[in-house]
Amino acid sequence: MSYVTNLKCRECGQEYPITPVHVCETCFGPLEVVYDYARIGKLLTRATIESRAKNLWRYRELLPVEGEPEMGPFSGFTPLLHARRLGAEVGLSKLYIKDDTVNHPTLSYKDRVVSVAITKAREFGFTTVSCASTGNLATAVAAHAARAGLRCYIFMPEGVESGKIVGSTIYGAQVITIRGNYDDVNRLCSEIADKYGWAFVNINLRPYYTEGAKTFGFEVAEQLGWRLPDHIVVPTAGGTILPKVAKAFKEFTQLGLVEGKFKIHCAQAAGSAPVIAALHKGTDLIVPVKPDTIAKSIAIGNPADGFYVLKAVRESGGWGEGASDAEIVDAIRLLARTEGIFAEPAGGTTLAVTLKLASAGRIKPDETVVVSITGNGYKTLEAVAGIIEQPVSIGARLAEFDALYERLPNGKRAVAGAA
Ligand SMILES: *Cc1c(COP(=O)(O)O)cnc(C)c1O
Ligand SMILES: [Zn+2]
Repeated sequence: MSYVTNLKCRECGQEYPITPVHVCETCFGPLEVVYDYARIGKLLTRATIESRAKNLWRYRELLPVEGEPEMGPFSGFTPLLHARRLGAEVGLSKLYIKDDTVNHPTLSYKDRVVSVAITKAREFGFTTVSCASTGNLATAVAAHAARAGLRCYIFMPEGVESGKIVGSTIYGAQVITIRGNYDDVNRLCSEIADKYGWAFVNINLRPYYTEGAKTFGFEVAEQLGWRLPDHIVVPTAGGTILPKVAKAFKEFTQLGLVEGKFKIHCAQAAGSAPVIAALHKGTDLIVPVKPDTIAKSIAIGNPADGFYVLKAVRESGGWGEGASDAEIVDAIRLLARTEGIFAEPAGGTTLAVTLKLASAGRIKPDETVVVSITGNGYKTLEAVAGIIEQPVSIGARLAEFDALYERLPNGKRAVAGAA
C-alpha cells in the first residue's frame, strides 16, 4: 500500500498519474512525487520506524513504491560516526561523518536511489534498465539489475575510473563509453530512452529515483537521536541529493518526528562548480562549464537540478564552496589518517569545503555538522595512487629490515625520540 497520490510539476503545478514520465508537457518543468502527508502523519511514529529492519525501507511510507519493496534489503542505514579525532584536529567538536562508503552493494550513495528506481522499474513492468552515469550510478544500476534479473545497458563518458567500468561490467551489464563528457552522455540517453522505451533510472524514472536520496537525510536525523544537525555539507553533481536531503528534513519536521533548524551547504569540485559560481554571484542563472577535475563522480557541468540546489541552500541560510584537486586529495588523506575512512574524491570535496566553511566562521566550533561522504576511495585509486608515498621494497631478510628501520622517517629514531 502506498501513500503516493500523483506526480506534480514543480514549476506550474500540473498533476500527472504515476507513470514513467519526468518532465511536464506544458512547461518542461521536472515532475515530483506527491504524498498524502495527512495519512502518513497518523501512523508514522519514531517507534514504528525504529522497530523496522535497518535498511532504507524503514521510511517506506515516504518512498514512492506500491507493494513490498523488492530491491535493496541491505542498502542504506549506513553509519553516522562522531569523528572525534578528525574533529579535534580541525577544531570542530561535534563533527559527524555520514558514511556511504559502505553502502550495500556498490559502496556509494547511489545504492539508495537505485534501490527505489529498480523496484519501481519492476512495478512498471520494464525488462531493460539503463542509465547515464559518471560511474557510481553505473555500478549500482548494474548490480541491482543483476539481482532483479533485468537486462542492463550502462552509458558513461570516456575516462571514468577503471573501478567503475570493471565494477559495472562484472555484473553482466553492457557498458558503453561515449566520446564526450557526462552532459553529452545524458543528451544521448534521453534520445535512446524515447526511441527504445527502456527504463533510464535517472531520466524517465527520475521522479521516483530521486526520492531515494531522501533516505540519506532521514537516517542522519534518526541517527542523531531524532534531531536535525545545525549544518550538513552535501556534494553536488546533477543536483539530486542536496535538495532531497533538505526535503527529508522538512518532511520529518512536518510529520512531527524532529524539530529545529538546519543549514545545508553545497560542495563542488572547483573544476566543475557551476552551482557554486551562481551561488557566489547571487544569481539563479547557472552557466554550464566543461568539467576538469579528479572528482569525476561529481563532474557534471550542466546540472539538471542545479536550480533546486541553490533554492535549498538559500532557503536554509546555508552556503557553499569549491575545492581544488589538491585540497580534495589533502582532505581524502586527512579523513583516512584520522578516522580510518577512505573516501573517493567526492568525499574529499565535501570535507575540504566543510573546513573552508569552518575557517570562514560559517560553522562554529561547537555546532553539530554532518559531512556527507558519498562514495568509496577503493573505486577511485587513480585519484591518489600517484600522489601518496610508495611502499619500500626489501628482501625477505631480517638484516634488511633492521637497516631499513634505522632510516625510516617514522622508524627507530622517531620511536626513540618520542620515548
Ligand atoms: C552521484 C554522486 C554524488 C551527487 O550527485 P547528485 O547528482 O548531485 O545527486 C555525490 N557523490 C558521489 C560519490 C556520487 O556518485
Ligand atoms: Zn509544468
